[in-house]
Amino acid sequence: MRLRNVPHAREFIAESPFVVHEPETLAGKWASDVFQNDHPIHLEIGTGKGRFIMALAAQNPDINYIGIEKYSSVLLRLIQKQEEQQLENLRLIRGDAQMLKSFFGPAEIARIYLNFSDPWPKDRHAMRRLPSREFLSRYDYVLTKDGTIEFKTDQQPLFDFALEELKESAFQIRAMTRDLHADEVLGEGNIMTEYEERFSALGNPIYKYILEKR
Ligand code: SAM
Repeated sequence: MRLRNVPHAREFIAESPFVVHEPETLAGKWASDVFQNDHPIHLEIGTGKGRFIMALAAQNPDINYIGIEKYSSVLLRLIQKQEEQQLENLRLIRGDAQMLKSFFGPAEIARIYLNFSDPWPKDRHAMRRLPSREFLSRYDYVLTKDGTIEFKTDQQPLFDFALEELKESAFQIRAMTRDLHADEVLGEGNIMTEYEERFSALGNPIYKYILEKR
């Protein structure tokens, strides 16, 4: 998702106190230098306009949240909301999650959310998919021993690919569903993302898994 014609997005982002500009300098130090508490840190990769992470951060003041989004024009919308709400426990990174292991130290993150990640349908782009084995290995490095990954999508081929990739990974399934909105257990307290609202309104079922380390 890229929004066009957003002038001055980069300048606006550069000036926001909620955006962490050199995350590489903070690897292993997010608790002490950024949040200044020892609350668990949860990460959303590919925040889009950020409804999901804003809602979670407002609901859970004892959890620290970090959102990573690749595109300035998209992140801008999230920053504008955060400038209004000023949630103390939320910080944002404009960057590519391929750099995850330079942004965070080992076992620094307690949970990772992947919501409606780009499907990258061509085989040669498989390693760009956020639930690919390459990304799972990065998640393994930054996650705590009992850390978890929560992934939602309406794309069946991407979900099936994500399940296949587990065989080559350090993770196993704790829970999963192929129809989140009809699942009484996994659906409870579900916060809909912008994409989830759009695609479930078309009648698409929502797939979800929760992973834990083996
Ligand atoms: N999560 C939002 C939702 O569910 O409404 C947005 C979904 S949108 C399809 C995927 C988002 O992930 C886009 O905003 C895209 O820029 C971002 N993204 C994709 N790959 C990324 C990466 N490697 N690092 C950071 N952001 C990424």
